[in-house]
Amino acid sequence: MANIQFRDLQRQYDHIKEAIDSNIQSVISSAHFISGPEVKTLEATLASYVGVKHCISCANGTDAISIALMAHGVGAGDAVFVPDFTFFSSGECPATIGATPIYVDVLSTTYNMNPTSLTSAVEKVISEGQLKPRAVVAVDLFGQPFDVPAIKTICDKYGLLLLEDAAQGFGGSYTTPAGEKKMACSLGDIATTSFFPAKPLGCYGDGGAIFTNDDNIALLCRSIAVHGKDTQNLDDPNAKYNNIRLGMNSRLDTLQAGVLLGKFETFRDEELDKVNHVASLYSDLLKDVEGLTIPTVLEGMYSSWAQYTIQLPEGVVRSEVQKTLKADGIPTNIYYIKPMHLQGAFMNTRSAEADCPNTERLCNSVLCLPIHPYLEDSEVEFIAEKLKSVLK
Ligand SMILES: *Cc1c(COP(=O)(O)O)cnc(C)c1O
Repeated sequence: MANIQFRDLQRQYDHIKEAIDSNIQSVISSAHFISGPEVKTLEATLASYVGVKHCISCANGTDAISIALMAHGVGAGDAVFVPDFTFFSSGECPATIGATPIYVDVLSTTYNMNPTSLTSAVEKVISEGQLKPRAVVAVDLFGQPFDVPAIKTICDKYGLLLLEDAAQGFGGSYTTPAGEKKMACSLGDIATTSFFPAKPLGCYGDGGAIFTNDDNIALLCRSIAVHGKDTQNLDDPNAKYNNIRLGMNSRLDTLQAGVLLGKFETFRDEELDKVNHVASLYSDLLKDVEGLTIPTVLEGMYSSWAQYTIQLPEGVVRSEVQKTLKADGIPTNIYYIKPMHLQGAFMNTRSAEADCPNTERLCNSVLCLPIHPYLEDSEVEFIAEKLKSVLK
């Protein structure tokens, strides 16, 4: 089978070329490369889609997490609870601003933070009396929102800030038992996302955004993202050069905003449906394979399928499976191969202490299959067929 990509951005470009080309051309013609009008338009578009008052764009999804935590004054002496099974940024950001990430185990079914493990981790920090429990980074791993009601209840009980890391979850949603649909990026006190090219909504470089309903926090985020400029007194023409706090240089390029605007409607109206179709076809084809675990999507959850992640049967040599599939032209990846608490960056710190058996098992057994909205049914069938035959 010809040319199966893990995430096919070329097929996407072929499909939406006109909108992308015309938006890029118009940014270049205007020469308004930083903070051009497309940036404001994109922020308004995404805020309204997600159903949150403010969207603050920034340079990438990692900065978005740091800025969100800084705006809430998280720092030295604070414990920030992070799933052990995630991309490095989720724990890197609290650590780089001086807080201590405390790693929490995930559920083997959804791959998201286990509420019971969160409670134990918070109780442990309280009983040690060294750190102040301050925030939870709830990741929408592989596209599925975190367990919103359970995690929220724990945050309320202990007075913790709930930060939704929706770098992989943009476009997903959670529908409450009462039938109220809430979009990813609206599920915490504050939320962040990434527009890295391979994420559900990706640009042509790095990009990210923060979402909040809090006017004051929104101003703080805007300030921190642009060198701590004075965002309260914008009538003052010199406010731009009035730096009232330490921040960073983290803006979304106008060109990237143009690309995202060119992609957005197709993402919302076509791609989310298509990628969900691909995922359910995979699950249909793989559900009866002995010992293989397909991803579980909980009742009320809608995933944006950043990844389709299976768990291989026990005893199977994963690298051999990957090698055989590769020979058939099927690319695969392992997200994630190492628990956060075992990363070298956290060696000999409090963050290295964690009780996360599910994460350790998942790191040894997961395999991510190609998934994107432009994957054809025949390709999904081919991949499932080849996978079944290598597992025989
Ligand atoms: C990709 C990712 C990030 C970081 O986003 P960048 O734009 O690459 O900085 C953060 N958290 C998670 C869960 C991610 O997958």
